[in-house]
Amino acid sequence: MGMFKIMFCKHEYLLIRTIHGDEALYARSEWKCNKCGHNRYSQYLERKQGDA
Ligand SMILES: [Zn+2]
Repeated sequence: MGMFKIMFCKHEYLLIRTIHGDEALYARSEWKCNKCGHNRYSQYLERKQGDA
């Protein structure tokens, strides 16, 4: 899985975990694409943030 795959992947993010405590200052949930494995964080608990 290189940068190419990540760049052209139509990500399908799955919720990995919700974030609590000190970490929650920066993000509330962690998502991972089940196709390319790219991680992203969201400030929302139950949904990912935007679509970039
Ligand atoms: Zn992806």
